[in-house]
Amino acid sequence: MTNPPSALPDDRVAIAPYHPRGDSRQLSESSSPTPAELTDCLFFSPEDGRIWLNDQRMVLLHSSSFGALRREVIERLGLEQARGLFTRTGYASGARDARLIRERWPQADAAAVFRAGTHLHTLEGMTKVEPLHFKFDADSGFYEGEFLWHHSCEADEHVGAYGIGQDPVCWTETGYAIGFVSGLFGQMVIFREVECRGMGHRSCRVIGKTAEQWGDVEQDLRYLNVSQAVTNATVAPTPDHPVSHSARANPPQTLVGASAAFNAATQALQRVALTPATVLISGESGVGKEMFARQLHQLSRRQDSPFVALNCAAIPDNLIEAELFGVERGAYTGATHSRPGRFERAQGGTLFLDEITSLSLAGQSKLLRALQEREIERVGGVRGIKVDVRVVAATNIDLRKAVADGTFREDLFYRLNVYPIALPPLRERRDDIPLLINAFLTRFCQEYARTPMGLTMRALKALLRYDFAGNVRELQNLIERGLIASDEGQPIDLVHLFRNEPMPADPYGLDDHGSLSNSAPPPCLALFDTLGQLEPGFSIEGLESRLLNEALQRNAGNLAAAARLVGLSRAQFAYRLKKHQRQSP
Ligand SMILES: [Zn+2]
Repeated sequence: MTNPPSALPDDRVAIAPYHPRGDSRQLSESSSPTPAELTDCLFFSPEDGRIWLNDQRMVLLHSSSFGALRREVIERLGLEQARGLFTRTGYASGARDARLIRERWPQADAAAVFRAGTHLHTLEGMTKVEPLHFKFDADSGFYEGEFLWHHSCEADEHVGAYGIGQDPVCWTETGYAIGFVSGLFGQMVIFREVECRGMGHRSCRVIGKTAEQWGDVEQDLRYLNVSQAVTNATVAPTPDHPVSHSARANPPQTLVGASAAFNAATQALQRVALTPATVLISGESGVGKEMFARQLHQLSRRQDSPFVALNCAAIPDNLIEAELFGVERGAYTGATHSRPGRFERAQGGTLFLDEITSLSLAGQSKLLRALQEREIERVGGVRGIKVDVRVVAATNIDLRKAVADGTFREDLFYRLNVYPIALPPLRERRDDIPLLINAFLTRFCQEYARTPMGLTMRALKALLRYDFAGNVRELQNLIERGLIASDEGQPIDLVHLFRNEPMPADPYGLDDHGSLSNSAPPPCLALFDTLGQLEPGFSIEGLESRLLNEALQRNAGNLAAAARLVGLSRAQFAYRLKKHQRQSP
């Protein structure tokens, strides 16, 4: 497994200290999270090619191609190496799911939280988990559990390829159990298959205990790449890395994201930051161009000097020159004082010029001169002033097109376009939405002194599918608004988020029978087209009467079936039908 890019923020949300204690025998069936509540976390966005488990992106992988991958890894790396690799992959999934449960159900009963892992592992299609018993107490460091795994996908694939063998083969699943329980427990809990379908047993039987209780766990830990010293120090493993020495060396972070598009932009940013090059940032409104410019400044050698920002569109044409280059006293009526412009104020640092295309052609030529000569002249001034400023320009329109249209100087374009960075719109980096939601929630909850309660499932689903014409800024506004509109101690729901915005369509989830369904009404038919030319004397009443009769005809006079077709109960249908019959002559 490779380390995440260093730009990846620490997206782990702080969770209250947890000292779980529980016993499966005292667990009620109806305790949250129930299987139905967990199933509700899984939903599909077929239009944009994503599957979500709460806020985690998932993939559907053919069991057979998982088998093929597994085979190839075994053949290339050997059995032992392959086993370690798949154990660690499973571990990462289990630890992620543990985090999901803790964040989504922070108040839930500890035993129910531990049981949720068996439901999720089942929901994700790896194996049907049947808990036999489990009992734990984090304070005294005790965990003991026993589970059955029925028709394990990994055992099927292994047996299909290699036949029955001497050793357990459900490596990914074992890793998952270790990751899930250790992630919750805060200490390493090791699971072992004592029986396995890969060894000819009917089902797999697994037992979990802490490393200390097992005693001899060197082999198990080797598969996880963890040294014995680490488990003894009761270090809670992190969701992403059972490997404890892979601490993240993060620079101070203001940018949040982990998607490929985001990483490409931050890597470009890091590469150019230490050079003196002029940078041109392009992207739609609200994608965070100023944030990126600030980050660039912080990563540069100019970090201890000022960062000065100017939105060229916010300053009237006739004042922009004075704003950029400063004014000498008496330069024009009303200029009673000399004052420095943004260039001088950014001396030694970075000048961020947003919406650069708003500069008039005259302003553009002055800017070009400043960039070329590294010298400016105040309005009404007579002497040149040397400036050492790095210019970062930004635009939300295509500069090349502006050049072609004659509204932007070509020579200035080439002067600015030394190192272009394109920032993707939020809808093209949807994988970052959960991270951004978390970051904004954390920030606003601090600002407003609120307890973070997260979002309801349907609010989260809506945000994951929303179009975000206003990009990150719009998401930030929605979260802030949602927090203000919701009550303390309650999660943010759909009604708190959206007012007049077009609501995203419902995603596909699993209904009570486990079938994919979309709870939204079917798309609106072009009703007037269907009706054809409206005849004189048309009435709504008449239309309803026609509709009821046609429904009845289509169902051969069966009232209940006809009622279902038009979305009425049998009684409502009969009542309306009777009403029309009375009204007709
Ligand atoms: Zn097995």
